[in-house]
Order: sequence, then structure tokens, then C-alpha cells
Amino acid sequence: MEINDNEITRKGLMFVLSSPSGAGKTSLSRKLLELDKELFLSISYTTRPPRPGEIDGEDYFFVNNDDFAFMQEQNEFLEYAKVFDYYYGTPKKPVKKILDKGRDILFDIDWQGTQQLMNNSKDHLVKVFVLPPSIKELERRLKERKQDEDEIIQKRMSRASDEMSHYAEYDYILVNDDFDKTVKEIISILNAERLKNHRQIKTQKIVKNLRGSL
Ligand code: 5GP
Repeated sequence: MEINDNEITRKGLMFVLSSPSGAGKTSLSRKLLELDKELFLSISYTTRPPRPGEIDGEDYFFVNNDDFAFMQEQNEFLEYAKVFDYYYGTPKKPVKKILDKGRDILFDIDWQGTQQLMNNSKDHLVKVFVLPPSIKELERRLKERKQDEDEIIQKRMSRASDEMSHYAEYDYILVNDDFDKTVKEIISILNAERLKNHRQIKTQKIVKNLRGSL
């Protein structure tokens, strides 16, 4: 990604999508990245084993406990958390690189990670929480993807309630009852947030030029 500094017109934002497992967050993220070329995915490190079809370096960086602990010690994570017995963490470096170029970064992280970003990156943050239309639908989606054992599905279901209890900490709440509608809603949020006054870098210059030509 080569970007000339003169092309940077705004500060990049950190766009967080959280939801209980099975609310459709992964499909939503994929669609957003496909539609919006200014948005880049933050690829987390995890100690969870890969699910069938997951690719190292694309879905996650899959590491062992020792490697994760080492990165933690070296202060390489912007945030990290334990979810379902495994560790998940966001590496600092790629985030900084993307923000510095005036581009946006998408985070698929849980409420624990979002709280940490609130403490260390509040100004850049836009937080969206995606709810499933019903618990029945949530269970159906978890079973349908056939990636997890029954026991794990039950664990994810019981954690859904815990995750949803944090909805109030988010800026926007969406109910994913219609995939295409939800995608449109997220894109509207993204575009509106990009236009926020405090994210515009060149406004002062533009207004000065406009006023100067009156
Ligand atoms: P999964 O194992 O289904 O891919 O992810 C389980 C949960 O961990 C999801 O809620 C996901 O958003 C969250 N998660 C994934 N990566 C990170 C991360 O880097 N940090 C935090 N805090 N949560 C993450």
C-alpha cells in the first residue's frame, strides 16, 4: 500500500465490530472489506487451533502459548484477552501503519478488547455491536457452520448472554436480521464517521482558500 503524504486528507479510524459468536460478524467483515477499499482488517494472534478452512496469516496468526506470552511480555499487543479458554490479541504495529496512512482498520474483537481500546485509543475508535435477531437464530447459525463440536457450541451459546450484556458500551447497535441491510447500515456509519470534523486534516486549508477567493 503506497500512499503519498499529500493524499492523506483525514485521520484513519479504528472500526470495531463486536457481537456474540454466530451473529454474522465474520461474513459482515468479509463483505465490508470487499466493498470498501479504504478499510483493512486487523489480523489477530490467537492460541486457538485453526478451524477447517482457516488460513494462517489471513484469518488469524495461529501461535502457541509460549509465543503469545512472549509477545505479551514484549508489549506487542494493543489489546489482548482470554476468550473460550484461548488467548486472542491485536498486534500494535500494523494498526499504527494503517492509521498513519489515513486509512481505516476493522477489528473483529470482543468486549474485553474493546474496553482496552477505549483506554488506549479512544479518539480513533468507532464501536459497533451486532445483535442476532433471536437466540434460536444464533444457535441455528452456530450449528449450520459445522465448524465446532456440540460442547463448544453450548459454551458459545452461554457466552452470548455475557457478550450481549455489554451492548451499552458501543456507539451503534445493529440487529442482523437481513444481511444486505446490515451491510448498508455499517457502510453508512463508516462514511458518516469519516466525515466527522475532528477526522478531517485539510479542512482549515480548504476553508482558508475558499474564503480567500471571495
Ligand atoms: P473465534 O474463535 O470465533 O474466531 O473468536 C472468538 C471471539 O474472540 C470473537 O468474539 C472474536 O471477536 C474475539 N476475538 C478475535 N480476535 C480477538 C482479539 O484480537 N482480541 C479480542 N479481545 N478478541 C478477539
